[in-house]
Amino acid sequence: MDYTDLYIDGEWRKGTERFDVINPATEEVLASVASADIADADAALDAAERAMAEWAARKPRERSEVLRRAWELMTDRLDHFAHLITLENGKARADAIGEATYAAEFFRWFAEEAVRADGLITHAPASGARIVVQHKPAGLAVLITPWNYPAAMGTRKIAPALAAGCGVVIKPASETPLTMLALMPLLEEAGVPKGLVNVLPSKKTGALVDHMLHDPRVRVVSFTGSTGVGRKLLKSAADQVLKPAMELGGNAPVLVLKDADMDTAIEGTMLAKMRNLGEACTAANRIYVHESLADDFTRRLSARMSALKVGDGTDPSVDVGPLVNAETRDKVAEFVSDALAKGAKLECGGTVPNGPGFFYPPTVISNVPETADCVHDEIFGPVAAIQTFADEDDAIRRANATEYGLVAYVFSADFKRAMQVCERLDYGMVGLNRGLVSDPAAPFGGTKQSGLGREGGHEGMLEFMETQYISAEW
Ligand code: NAP
Repeated sequence: MDYTDLYIDGEWRKGTERFDVINPATEEVLASVASADIADADAALDAAERAMAEWAARKPRERSEVLRRAWELMTDRLDHFAHLITLENGKARADAIGEATYAAEFFRWFAEEAVRADGLITHAPASGARIVVQHKPAGLAVLITPWNYPAAMGTRKIAPALAAGCGVVIKPASETPLTMLALMPLLEEAGVPKGLVNVLPSKKTGALVDHMLHDPRVRVVSFTGSTGVGRKLLKSAADQVLKPAMELGGNAPVLVLKDADMDTAIEGTMLAKMRNLGEACTAANRIYVHESLADDFTRRLSARMSALKVGDGTDPSVDVGPLVNAETRDKVAEFVSDALAKGAKLECGGTVPNGPGFFYPPTVISNVPETADCVHDEIFGPVAAIQTFADEDDAIRRANATEYGLVAYVFSADFKRAMQVCERLDYGMVGLNRGLVSDPAAPFGGTKQSGLGREGGHEGMLEFMETQYISAEW
């Protein structure tokens, strides 16, 4: 591996300690990566502060062109990034190419947004003064990302932060730091100034991030990961009243209404379930099918799931790679055992293969009882858990009965009815007759304990900006 050190102020630093990154398909060590400590965090913040002063003063068009160049360069090198993503995360080649493309698109989208930070001038209704509203870069941002999308969860934060004029320090997940490190030479080539983006892999994550969140220069904390860690970060962020952007866990329901087109519902559910082999916050976690369609739906979904080829994701014929680590694989296996013990039926899959590699086969379980753990927690793996409903109101009530509110999916051929159901779902995003909602041009984010704020769309850049109002007389 070419890039395994800390990236601070445009330079590679060895750090005082190192940790291993494992290939989940082979369980072999891929690389030994530097682990940042508090002194490295201070150096990274110093560099980001220096670089930001110059970057924020640049014309929006100049910032835009650097981001546009990053999109071009990354698009030219999709294969390279996809390969790295597969090596460290395990996902199959098609998923990795999908992620690299999606990751690059954030540079293009925010290159376009960088020149559209609009404001407002209006008359104050009573005083006659002018109300002038404008947006300014919020300040240094600490970005913390998960392992399930080693490139895209980073670029979804870096691109809007740079578009807004902020400097950043990014802490990638310890399972998958290599892709983010490998992105740094590309950003340099695109014209990102030295020090503006710093990458600190670390095994002392809690202490490192907490230290940065208490540095008075930091104004934004943008996190993607589990709700449990998100809660901790919100508590730390409270001390300096930081601007938080929190993309947290999900428990996505799929509602297949009785008038659903079966082909569309199967296609959409496969995508919502198996994109990224189920290791996605947007993954279909609970599948509610109208009882009149349930047998046909279960049979067809099981046939599609059984036909998927499992193996090392670097083999282009493989559809489903390994899970990221043994813990994640074991948790998925436990969800299935628990559901079966509580009365669910195994339709396909369900057996952990011999190693090496953290593989789990595409699995379908039906008749899943409400008491099963997988109804209440994220499965985060290739297991489709099917329940039935007779009454639409009951299905909506069950779909909403969770502390999460990231994304829901609805399948129905009756558009008016489908829209009425969508509006009753307490979710930040709904896929209607589609199994994919993620789009750099759309506001991604959840309600309830799935998070705060939005990434992508017009909203994404505002997470890195402060609104200033000037009351003016002229
Ligand atoms: P995680 O355990 O919460 O870790 C995410 C990041 O937080 C990693 O970089 C991790 O570093 C860091 N972290 C862990 N403990 C920390 C602490 N005490 N203080 C500061 N940072 C800390 O989540 P994960 O297992 O990597 O990712 C899966 C979760 O992410 C799922 O719940 C999924 O739904 C969620 N997710 C949400 C979205 C969304 O957009 N809503 C997107 C993708 C994933 P280390 O790796 O060093 O521990």
